[in-house]
Amino acid sequence: MLDSSRRGFICSLSAFLAVPLSQAQEPDLILYNGNLWTVDEKLPRAQAVAISAGRFFAVGANDEVLHLATGRSRKLDLGGKTVLPGFIDAHSHPAEAGLSHLRMVDCDLRSIAEILKALRERAQKTPRGEWVLGFKYDDTKPADNRPLTLQDLNEALPEHPVFVGHRGGHTAWVNSPALKLAKLEKNSPDPQGGKYDHDPTTGELTGHVREHGMDAFRAVIPANFTREDHREGVRLISKMMSRTGVTSVTDASGSPEDLFAYQQARDAGELSVRIYCHIFHAFVGKMLEAGVKTGLGDEWVRVGAQKMVCDGSISERTARLSQPYIGRPDDFGILVTPEDQLYEMARKAHAAGWQLGTHANGDVAIDITLRVYERLQKEMPRKDPRFRLEHCSLVTDSLIRRIHDLGAIPTPFSTYAYYHGEKMKEYGAERLNHMFALRSFLDAGIRPTQASDYPPGPFEPMMALQSEVTRADSKGNVWGATQRISLEEAIRVGTMNGAYASYEENSKGSIEAGKLADLVVLGRDPFKEDPSNIVEIPIERTMTGGKWVFES
Ligand SMILES: [Zn+2]
Repeated sequence: MLDSSRRGFICSLSAFLAVPLSQAQEPDLILYNGNLWTVDEKLPRAQAVAISAGRFFAVGANDEVLHLATGRSRKLDLGGKTVLPGFIDAHSHPAEAGLSHLRMVDCDLRSIAEILKALRERAQKTPRGEWVLGFKYDDTKPADNRPLTLQDLNEALPEHPVFVGHRGGHTAWVNSPALKLAKLEKNSPDPQGGKYDHDPTTGELTGHVREHGMDAFRAVIPANFTREDHREGVRLISKMMSRTGVTSVTDASGSPEDLFAYQQARDAGELSVRIYCHIFHAFVGKMLEAGVKTGLGDEWVRVGAQKMVCDGSISERTARLSQPYIGRPDDFGILVTPEDQLYEMARKAHAAGWQLGTHANGDVAIDITLRVYERLQKEMPRKDPRFRLEHCSLVTDSLIRRIHDLGAIPTPFSTYAYYHGEKMKEYGAERLNHMFALRSFLDAGIRPTQASDYPPGPFEPMMALQSEVTRADSKGNVWGATQRISLEEAIRVGTMNGAYASYEENSKGSIEAGKLADLVVLGRDPFKEDPSNIVEIPIERTMTGGKWVFES
């Protein structure tokens, strides 16, 4: 006994000595003369930080940190600029968005004519009969004040099947050739959890399809992406996100191809944001068999939660609500997965040690999802399961109590009050006081995150901060003033809370010695900025793992 424990002691000693002391204790880089908001309660403000081997090595006052410099330490004078920990986007769709940017027509344009022109240009380069795909179309943004129609698409692209997805991802607009390929006719029955819209007078299909109504098209649109395409998509989107100060992202609905693409991009040195990759439930079975569970991976690419979907979307106004939409008295939204199915999907993964993340927007969906989680925890109690309520948009006092009691994590939309203001009237001013309810969550001791859901919402952290602090849209209309939080709270939500949501609070989320060196340098101090101008603050530099991944 003595011998073996002694051998163990000697082994660990020699392992320690194997790390060259000089290298471990020598900063590669010192940033000084800065205005650091560390989000570390022990040392909230600092002037300087030393970085060694991709991690923060020391944080403190200029003289404290600068005297650690050796001959090989580089030094950078920040000139008083504000530095924050790198932002964590706790729910978005980077791999899918990257592929879309690579292959589809970006329909985030401000008139129907411009959208049709962009689609037509793509059609001219696309063989007749092949699909033209659009994404990021937003029905409320074009100045025309009406949605795209089947007729628009038929006239502009008579010889190509067209599928234009809403930026929210839950609805789409198609033309007649597309309907034909999907074998849909006037009398085709709606699929479970989906709708094919019909003209109220003629009964003809309008080409607007919702939720599982999109499946018939997905089944016939060839997804002929190569592994190179997937990797290229990840490279593209991670660059786009790094420019804005994001250093970590949760992919809220990853596939095996996505997980592979993130690893390929990491290996090629092209991944500039860290990825916590939720896996869509349909793909988890094989991974369970292989013994994979949440947390497998490294500090760049890690397996996240099992993802499930309970209801519809906020930006497309299909979330399942207990009270109808304003102006549509019979419309309560769409439930995508019934409770018993959700429970069946969740059970095995929960038992095998997976975190669970369920898309639940409306109060009805959140209630259902919480019931599933509560039942699982009762039948198979797990220590610290950190159940995630993806979006968790519309809450009530009793839902908040249950979220707190379960230790669950909401990931509400951070940029919607600002960016999607014009859609909020369909929820109504009063209901907005209970949506994206950061004030209520924080007051209840819950740890909500920052989340864009990109493409549905923009991912710029500065827009998130402004939206959360002011609750005002770009025209100045205020949506849910009672849910405003302070700038300091919003920064913590966007950093530490995001780290907690992926079980990584000990390795990131604050500027603290020993943590991963992820940070952002801002062009102006948000604490000195008019809150309605935060969105304009330029990002000067972003660092991930001790490397500048963006420099303006
Ligand atoms: Zn999402």
